[in-house]
Amino acid sequence: MTITPDIRQQVRQRANFACEFCSVTEADTAGGLTIDHYQPQTKGGNDEPDNLIYSCPRCNQYKSDYWPSTENDIFLWNPRQEEAKQHFLELENGMLHPLTATGTFTIKRLRLNRKPLINYRLHKKWREEELRLLTRYGELVELLTQLNRQISSLMDEQQDLLREQRELLQLILRQRR
Ligand SMILES: [Zn+2]
Repeated sequence: MTITPDIRQQVRQRANFACEFCSVTEADTAGGLTIDHYQPQTKGGNDEPDNLIYSCPRCNQYKSDYWPSTENDIFLWNPRQEEAKQHFLELENGMLHPLTATGTFTIKRLRLNRKPLINYRLHKKWREEELRLLTRYGELVELLTQLNRQISSLMDEQQDLLREQRELLQLILRQRR
């Protein structure tokens, strides 16, 4: 059995077009990623969608055909079954900190703290922060616009009041003559 274009497309979409191990996207790498067999074909893995993981070439290369062969061997993190946050904590400096033995092993095997990946996470963080600030800036501009509108309508009301007072004053003056 081979991976049909339909299944490949399904795997890509399911992964949101990003490496399921390290989150690098197709857009970031300007190209399609690869399909990894969680349980390698050489170790009895099949082409069922449950065994297929969308993976960047680096993660795929480092993972290679790893599969536990003894009872003491650790399973690699399976992003299809467990969320990343169960095994990793992303630190402020862009490094991944392991929370479990699986996390420690996966970081080591897939080199999830490789320098370009740390830089990638930091850039992503900065972009998100930038977007957050820009959104806040937009909200502030909108708020100032509203305030301006209110001030301008208050000024109009004040003008009206002044006009009325002037008319009243003229009326009083006229009556006193
Ligand atoms: Zn990757």
